[in-house]
Amino acid sequence: MDLARAIRDVPDFPKPGILFKDITTLLQDPAQFRETVERLAAPWRGQKIDVVCGIESRGFILGGALAERLGAGFVPARKPGKLPAKTCRVEYALEYGTDALEMHEDAVKKGQRVLICDDLVATGGTAKAAAELVEQLGATVAGFAILVNLKFLPGAKVISRWPAHYVVEFD
Ligand code: AMP
Repeated sequence: MDLARAIRDVPDFPKPGILFKDITTLLQDPAQFRETVERLAAPWRGQKIDVVCGIESRGFILGGALAERLGAGFVPARKPGKLPAKTCRVEYALEYGTDALEMHEDAVKKGQRVLICDDLVATGGTAKAAAELVEQLGATVAGFAILVNLKFLPGAKVISRWPAHYVVEFD
């Protein structure tokens, strides 16, 4: 099944010059959705994964299904101000300015192995921030389960200190 072909390219979204990889066309088909989650899960089967951490917001869709498939719990890493209880925050640089991710302080604990899930890695800033958050909370980053790697950008290198598996890679 060619999952890469099912991802729609949307030029100039959300701003001119960005080629947006739209995964809605992939996930709307039941067989493709199942295969996507299966391929995200496959490298991690048999490893101890206690919790999947999904990055807002497409990491919630994939990460929830992945957690269920691996028999793990699920926790969200969210944009600032969205989580209701006490949070921990990591800020990261964007092209212009900064952004941040937050997790609940009690989302993961020491000794737990956490698999971080998102739809796509571009510069790697978001994924790295999620890993740093998990480590700040005392848990161990088992690795990354990511649907798309844009190989022409530095993301994979930026998170290379942790194991990572990508389902689809674009040159
Ligand atoms: P980055 O921090 O630069 O690796 O950006 C990764 C985050 O931004 C992920 O949560 C993606 O969903 C989103 N993102 C960045 N670039 C794209 C793109 N070209 N197409 C779709 N999503 C993107």
